Amino acid sequence: MKRFRMVMAVLLLGAAGLPAPAVAAPADYDIDTASSLQVVVNKQRPLDPATYVPSALVRVTGLKVRAEAADAYKKLSRAAKADGVAITLVSGYRSYAQQESLYNDYVRQYGQQVADTLAARPGFSEHQTGLAVDIGNPSGSCALAECFESTPAGRWAAAHAEEYGFVIRYPKGSGEVTGYSYEPWHLRYVGPALAKEFELSGEATLEEFFGLPAAPDYN
Ligand SMILES: [Zn+2]
Repeated sequence: MKRFRMVMAVLLLGAAGLPAPAVAAPADYDIDTASSLQVVVNKQRPLDPATYVPSALVRVTGLKVRAEAADAYKKLSRAAKADGVAITLVSGYRSYAQQESLYNDYVRQYGQQVADTLAARPGFSEHQTGLAVDIGNPSGSCALAECFESTPAGRWAAAHAEEYGFVIRYPKGSGEVTGYSYEPWHLRYVGPALAKEFELSGEATLEEFFGLPAAPDYN
């Protein structure tokens, strides 16, 4: 009983005596500026300027990623490794020119309608922010495929990405909002504060979290 009271006292003190954690309102995040860690890019919200290049790109296992996202990704992959799960980096930053050539290749092969389901148009890709990473398993199993969610790397990322400031940007069943079908391998760095707040909100997408219109397609 005595022990219980002591625990209660500590809990009460904790609740009353400490300042509430600072939680930024959605309005406090800059979702418009290309260089903002919280920028929201989708088929209705191109990067401005379209040819934006992030200033602080660093190399992670041979791929370029923006410094903030690179640090967080390294922490994430180390933590996964400590849990016995190996995660590899499959894709990071893509420049406007790289996205353009990728998209144009698809257009040549399949036509624009199909190309639009396979790759973002240049200036509209989250990868151009340097804040998006595609992750994989060293075995390559389910690489860039929906079944990635059931692989060790996919499961680990779904459970822990938020702790490192990442969100699963294109969740299952939200294609009409994000413009992309389920991509369990595509993680977007938004910083730990927003990642936490987003998770607690229960919203599935950044569009819904910020009250933005759905972006199923280009204008
Ligand atoms: Zn991606």
